[in-house]
Amino acid sequence: MGETRHTKLLIIGSGPAGYTAAVYASRAMLSPLLVQGIQPGGQLTITTEVENWPGDTEVQGPDLMVRMEAHAVAMGAEVISDIILTLDLGKRPFTAVGDSGTTYTADAVILATGAQAKWLGLPSEEKFKGFGVSACATCDGFFYRGREVVVTGGGNTAVEEALFLTNFASKVTLIHRRDSLRAEKILQDRLFKNPKVTVLWNHAIDSVVGDDTPLGVTGVRAKDVTTGAITEVPCAGFFVAIGHAPASELVKDQLELHNGGYVKVTPGSTHTSIPGVFAAGDLTDHVYRQAVTSAGMGCMAALDAERWLAEHA
Ligand code: FAD
Ligand code: NAP
Repeated sequence: MGETRHTKLLIIGSGPAGYTAAVYASRAMLSPLLVQGIQPGGQLTITTEVENWPGDTEVQGPDLMVRMEAHAVAMGAEVISDIILTLDLGKRPFTAVGDSGTTYTADAVILATGAQAKWLGLPSEEKFKGFGVSACATCDGFFYRGREVVVTGGGNTAVEEALFLTNFASKVTLIHRRDSLRAEKILQDRLFKNPKVTVLWNHAIDSVVGDDTPLGVTGVRAKDVTTGAITEVPCAGFFVAIGHAPASELVKDQLELHNGGYVKVTPGSTHTSIPGVFAAGDLTDHVYRQAVTSAGMGCMAALDAERWLAEHA
């Protein structure tokens, strides 16, 4: 049996939402505990340049998150390296159990568990995951120096991944299921101007193909969405960049969710369907999903929690 620790406020997640909540809650003298989870710093730790964080024309994602953690700690938050495995919101104090064996009891909880990459769900994608199939160019791009790669998706992530991969790969093919991208125009401009990039429009990935010994990708089969014709695109690496799904597994049977798994909050606030439980960032937001909006919601959650605790704890 591990130890049990009680806190007024438990913050679960260490992305922009969690760290901002920790800064505000610390300044409100709530002495919050923040549990970081499997990805300390959250999604921005798997990207490179961030160009839309106000005050920094350009900042590296991992650097920004190190600074946010330091800020939260400097204000008095305790940042804990642990992963919450179970969370019981059925009675107060709320109880969370960490992978370390520690049990955390809390008068109030801020959920800031963010989102995780989506996969296509193809058996061949599963087979080659980690052997040529990846959802993180920043993590794996280096392995494809001088090789051809394919990226699929049409949002900001796909375009940024494709551009990043041009630093290593000899050729980058972006395959998208429609005839236009939803990525920001500035990113689209950079993509279309890059001589290493080719775009294959109106194609969906049919399967990933490769060798068994050793296990490795040799290409993808892409299906024309109008004619059904198959084109095989050779590549050594295949990057899936089709968006993210909210990390609501811990609370899916306890809180009201909507829009495919996002935690529902009272509009204009961070109150969830259980009093004393607040949610912020990508976990609640299927529309904006930005670092700055997540940070803003982290601030709101800490203020909401502070007021709620003053009335109820
Ligand atoms: P996240 O950053 O997703 O963090 C979630 C946190 O929850 C993680 O620390 C994780 O470890 C933790 N967690 C999850 N489950 C548990 C658990 N069970 N126990 C404990 N902790 C848990 N946005 C921009 O504004 N500008 C950009 O340039 C930009 N670039 C991006 C590039 C990429 C490749 C990606 C994927 C996203 C990018 N975004 C960008 C979006 C931005 O990263 C997200 O909107 C933002 O990180 C969401 O913050 P968050 O705090 O809600 O959650
Ligand atoms: P996204 O905006 O949801 O885009 C997902 C893309 O993948 C869409 O183009 C979608 O196609 C495609 N797609 C989805 N499911 C698919 C499937 N099963 N098969 C094939 N294609 C599929 O996701 P994102 O690009 O990861 O961005 C997520 C959020 O993070 C956004 O809010 C984004 O602005 C933010 N972000 C910001 C930055 C930045 O500011 N620089 C960088 C990265 C991410 P359709 O277009 O046809 O729907």
